[in-house]
Amino acid sequence: MCAKKKVHHVVRRPGNRLGDPDIEIPVAEDLVTEPGAPVREGDVSFYSREYPLEAHFVENSADREWLWSQYTESFAQWRVEHEKVDTPLVEAAAVSGDIPPHVEPDPDPTEPIRRKARELGFSEVGFTRYDRRYTYASKKKWVKFQHAICLAYEQEYHGTQKIPSEEAEHTHFGTYTTEGAVSLELADYIRSLGYHAQVHSHSDSSAPYIPMFISAGLGQLGANGQLLMPHFGSRGRLMMITTDAPVKYDAPVDYGINRFCDKCQVCVVRCPSNALSRDKLWWRGTLKNKVSYARCRPVMGRYDGCSICMKVCPVQKYGMEPVMEHYVETGEVLGKGTDELEGYTLKDKGHFGPGEKPHFTPEFFQIPRGRYEDWVYEEFKERLAAGEELTEEELAEFGDEVREAVRTKREATG
Ligand code: SF4
Ligand code: SF4
Repeated sequence: MCAKKKVHHVVRRPGNRLGDPDIEIPVAEDLVTEPGAPVREGDVSFYSREYPLEAHFVENSADREWLWSQYTESFAQWRVEHEKVDTPLVEAAAVSGDIPPHVEPDPDPTEPIRRKARELGFSEVGFTRYDRRYTYASKKKWVKFQHAICLAYEQEYHGTQKIPSEEAEHTHFGTYTTEGAVSLELADYIRSLGYHAQVHSHSDSSAPYIPMFISAGLGQLGANGQLLMPHFGSRGRLMMITTDAPVKYDAPVDYGINRFCDKCQVCVVRCPSNALSRDKLWWRGTLKNKVSYARCRPVMGRYDGCSICMKVCPVQKYGMEPVMEHYVETGEVLGKGTDELEGYTLKDKGHFGPGEKPHFTPEFFQIPRGRYEDWVYEEFKERLAAGEELTEEELAEFGDEVREAVRTKREATG
C-alpha cells in the first residue's frame, strides 16, 4: 500500500439533492492536470468548420433500425409504450424556443434558475456559453440562443447496477422521460422570468453536450467516454436548455479525473469488446480516450444497451468523494479487482468476474452500418453483383425501403 498522498486542492460542490450538505472532494497532487479538459481550440474550430458533426440518429440510422431486431418481444413492446409517452415531450421541446416570454425580464436570473432546476430534481446545474462549434449539421439552424444551462438528472442506483439488463434499460429510458418533462417545466419558469428558453431534448440532441458540461464545471471526461460527475459519475442523464437570459457562467474544475482514469483503467479493461482505447489521443481538438463505435455498437445492440463501462466505474458506484478520499489515503482505486465493482453477467454467456471476459467471433461485429438508405442500397448492389435475379416484388420492396429511408431522414433533419 502506498503512503498517504498529498492533497493539492479540495473541490467543494453542493449536495446531490436540494438541502443535502455540500461535499468535499480532495484532489491528490499527482492527479492534477488542468480545469476541464485539455483542448486545442484551433483544432476544435477547424474540425467544426471542415468536418461538422452529425447526430447519431442520422449518421447511424442503419444500426438504429437493426436494434429493434435484437429486442425481446416484451422489451420491444415496452419501447413502443415508452415512445408513446416520450414523443410528445420531444415534440414540445422542438418548438419550445419559439414561445415568447410574457413578463419584463428579471435583471439577475442565474440563481433563481439554478434553484428552480434543483427543486425540479436536477442534481447538477451549470451555466456556460452554448458552443456552436459542436452543433450537429442538421441542427445548426434550429439552435436559437447563446447561453447554455447544463442539467443532469440522476439515474436510479439499484436498477443501474443490474447493467446489462432490460431492467437497467427501463431505468435509463425512464430517467429520460422524467427529465424531459421537468425540463419543459423549467423552460416555463425561465419564461416567467422574462426570457426565452429552448429545450434540447435527450432524444433529439443538438450537439454532443459533454464539452459544454465540462466548461460549466459539472465534471470531467472519463476514459469510458462519459462525463464523470461528482455524485454519480456517468449515472446522470444530460439535458440542456439554451436561453437569452443573461446568466453568469460557471468555470471548469479540475476534479483530478483526467489523470485518475489513466491509473484506474477499469472500464478499459472490463469492456467486453475492447472498444475503449487504453491511451488518450487527440480527437477533433480534445485529448481523450476514444470509443470504437464499430466494436461497441454490436455489443450494445445485443446486450440491452451494454453500458458495462458505466457499471464498473467506481465513480458511478461509490461517488467521487469516497473514491478520491480512498485514493489520497491509499494510492489505490476503490473497489478495483473486486467482483462487486468489476463483475457482470451477459444473458447468454454467464458471469464474468475480474480478469474474465467473453469471446466474440468476427461475425458478431458484422451489423448494418452508416445511414439506413446507404446500407439498403449497398445490400441491393451486393445481391445484383452476386448474380441474383430479383423479382418484381423485391424491386418494389427495395423502392419502398429507399422512399421510407429518405422520408425518415427528411423528418429527422428538417
Ligand atoms: S457500452 Fe459496452 S461495449 Fe460499449 S464501450 Fe461500454 S463496455 Fe464497451
Ligand atoms: S472506470 Fe476508471 S478509468 Fe473508467 S471512467 Fe471510471 S474512473 Fe475512469
